[in-house]
Amino acid sequence: MGIFAKSPAATTMERTKNRPSEKKIAKLKYTVDDWDSDSYALMAEGADPVHCPSCGFTGFYGPRALDNKKFRECRFCGFYQEVDQPPGRRRPVVHDCDKWPEAGGTPYIWWIPGDERFYECNFCGQRAVVEKTNAFQRNVGITAPADDPTHPWWQVPQDKSYSYYYSYWEQWPCTKGRIIF
Ligand SMILES: [Zn+2]
Ligand SMILES: [Zn+2]
Repeated sequence: MGIFAKSPAATTMERTKNRPSEKKIAKLKYTVDDWDSDSYALMAEGADPVHCPSCGFTGFYGPRALDNKKFRECRFCGFYQEVDQPPGRRRPVVHDCDKWPEAGGTPYIWWIPGDERFYECNFCGQRAVVEKTNAFQRNVGITAPADDPTHPWWQVPQDKSYSYYYSYWEQWPCTKGRIIF
């Protein structure tokens, strides 16, 4: 963790206790205007990152754009919402191959659509099956960090500035330049 201090456990436990119900989360709206103002606040004004509306953590969540899609996403709990669409939950996977990188003291997490059974490993190129560890397939589906209080990412300091998280995730090649908060 280097220069990054550990966050007090009380704060994160409190945050978990206050997680809204899945029913409430399912009703959340997200418009293009919301996305524009979220992105502007972060990228142009350098505003402090906001909390994920699902798990309440900072440092993993924010507005993103990919392939002309505008959406918001959390890499701690898997919350995902494209503009003008209902929210969904992505599934965390880790491919058990030699090329899989680490970030924040633990294997990096790849988030895939919740209903997908296969994904192409971004690091070794293999087609991986989403299942629990299997001696023959060596592919792993894991628990989202938000649902596993022993996960090392629980130690990522909370309520920090945009520049703090930017520097934090720049430490590892797999997250360098990829994070928008
Ligand atoms: Zn979250
Ligand atoms: Zn792989």
